[in-house]
Amino acid sequence: MPSDPDLALRGRLIRGLGALREMLPGSFVERQRSCGKANCRCADGQHLHTQYQLSVFAEGKLKTFNVPPQAAEEVQQRVDLHRRFQEAAARIAQLNLRRWLSEKEAQGKAPEKP
Ligand SMILES: [Zn+2]
Repeated sequence: MPSDPDLALRGRLIRGLGALREMLPGSFVERQRSCGKANCRCADGQHLHTQYQLSVFAEGKLKTFNVPPQAAEEVQQRVDLHRRFQEAAARIAQLNLRRWLSEKEAQGKAPEKP
């Protein structure tokens, strides 16, 4: 049975999106800081604390949320799901654009010359 490879690819991409449903927006940030306590190990400027944050641009503002260390790996992975979702969405949209242009051409309306 002949099949359209573009449609097969689009179907695979669409079906793959469900696996990305736990995605989180924004950027995962890992930074080193001192806590400001004079007698803490970090006071020497060398043994700093690792702090994890999730930075999200929402409603015109950049919001930063602290991420507990035990949740850092999970949050990082969930932010990565969002990147993969955006990549898949871009591929689907490009594929649809290519199909739309070739349908338009087939209907006798030549696409604009670059
Ligand atoms: Zn400290």
